Amino acid sequence: MVQHTGPGTQIEEIRSLLKQLEGHLDRLDPVASEFASSGAPSAEDRVAQVTEFAASVGGALDISQVLDRALTALLPIAGAERAFLTLRDSDKTFVDRLRASNQADGNAWIYQKIARLVVDRVFEHGQMVLLDDVSQQADIAEEAAAYDVPLSSLLALPLREGDRLDGVLYFDRSDGVPFPRRDLKLFQALGQIITRAGQAVRSMAEQTARRQNLELLNKLYQAISRTLELDQLLDQVAAITMDVTQSERAFILLMNNGQLRFGAGRDHGGPLNAQASREISRSVCQKVLQTQEGVYVLDTASDEEFSSKLSVVSLKLNSVVAVPLKGQQGLSGILYIDAKSTAMQSLEKEMAILTNIANVASLAIDNARLYRQATTDGLTSLYVRSFFMVRMEEEANRSARYGRMFSLLVLDIDHFKRFNDTYGHQTGDEVIKLVAHIIKRAIRQGLDIPGRYGGEELVLMLPETNADGAMIVAERIRQNIENTPLPGPNGESLRVTVSVGVGVFPVHGGTATQLFERADQALYHSKQNGRNRCSLAAVPPPTA
Ligand code: GH3
Ligand code: MG
Ligand code: MG
Repeated sequence: MVQHTGPGTQIEEIRSLLKQLEGHLDRLDPVASEFASSGAPSAEDRVAQVTEFAASVGGALDISQVLDRALTALLPIAGAERAFLTLRDSDKTFVDRLRASNQADGNAWIYQKIARLVVDRVFEHGQMVLLDDVSQQADIAEEAAAYDVPLSSLLALPLREGDRLDGVLYFDRSDGVPFPRRDLKLFQALGQIITRAGQAVRSMAEQTARRQNLELLNKLYQAISRTLELDQLLDQVAAITMDVTQSERAFILLMNNGQLRFGAGRDHGGPLNAQASREISRSVCQKVLQTQEGVYVLDTASDEEFSSKLSVVSLKLNSVVAVPLKGQQGLSGILYIDAKSTAMQSLEKEMAILTNIANVASLAIDNARLYRQATTDGLTSLYVRSFFMVRMEEEANRSARYGRMFSLLVLDIDHFKRFNDTYGHQTGDEVIKLVAHIIKRAIRQGLDIPGRYGGEELVLMLPETNADGAMIVAERIRQNIENTPLPGPNGESLRVTVSVGVGVFPVHGGTATQLFERADQALYHSKQNGRNRCSLAAVPPPTA
């Protein structure tokens, strides 16, 4: 890891550089000739010159400023006609730039080409290149001749940071004057200032990345701690993924009985449904499942491995990134992003972000799944009785405090014993599942709370709903069940009906238990009066 350079160490460094620079300082200033004509520069002036170079280059905020500032200062110091500098950037790529003393030189690009040729050689061998007479070096001389540009001497110095080659500093000139060897030490010292400046901006970039990472994690923790509900959680994770990546779509797929199933999806317009998840790259997901590692594919049409995969090509995806969600029981799903445009530029970065999200989200998803297992019924995925009762207590307290009302429906399948006896217990189970499904479809998602109270007795709590509203919902559910045919074991079309009792808090009961009793009595009333009907609880007589 790159260490951050504090101002203290920088001053130390300048001091030690000054020691090394004894005898070279007169060449440091861009207006050295001025100093020369006014007599030798004082010791203070020399210190000021090196300090100025260090301050200017060291104060750069990014790598391109390091290049600009260093080149501007170096050209006159070196007496070069062109200076070329290449340095390592924060993402480990090299960036370079050329500066010519004659800024109007239309041949700058040719010199840049030659500089790159020489610099490549330094990278290859790690050795300095110093040519007093370029004509002695056939390939470079030829290059210059081919474009008809004059070039007489050049110098290319490796810039090292420890053992690592961090960049190359290059000068050339066309006037026949060679670069004096006595200047090498000076350039090496200035090169050190440059590499330290490069290191500082990289460290800054790293810190920014780390801060962004922390912000992301913070956002994620907040979203996750807000809910234990799996669906909400997944949607939040998808939303954050859209927020912090440059993708156009984000999906979470969960492993369910060995199969990848849709969990949540988002694009810039909002939530996506399971239908949209059919149009994701199956081949990429397959690869993640196989390798249990992140996969990214850029420009999927030309990617060797994936270009032949129909799923990618027909979807016209430009880039896809997918990482595994690793739960306590192994792979629990996939976090997936893609884009049809070239919006995602560094897929490596996107994958790093995605991996971070996946690591945190996996734990939360595990928890939410456990929570779901503990609170919902396996057959119907409605809330279990104990959880339902707790929610109803909460709702009763909340409604009492704020003077609100809520309704409770108790539903029981009619003559279900007979149904079971005729068609078998298994068909009976299917019926309970279907009734639960009809109830779920008839209610406000995320607001109304459906539960399975016992065998074929289902309950439904409707917050902020009065008797009229509750009776409308009850009647709608009753009718839907009555009108929905059920496939029997021998292909016959069967029907069941339900009886419903409805109670309203606090009208029919001032506590959860009381309300339940009243709604249950209303259900009994429905049963007594011919079944397949809904009854509202009676208002209890005022207590003395
Ligand atoms: P009614 O409610 O109309 O008065 O008649 P019923 O026959 O439905 O009577 P009751 O509600 O008292 O009986 C419940 C029956 O439902 C008992 C049992 O055969 C059946 N049952 C209860 N739980 C389950 C279950 O989980 N699966 C299946 N298949 N049947 C169940
Ligand atoms: Mg029944
Ligand atoms: Mg019953």
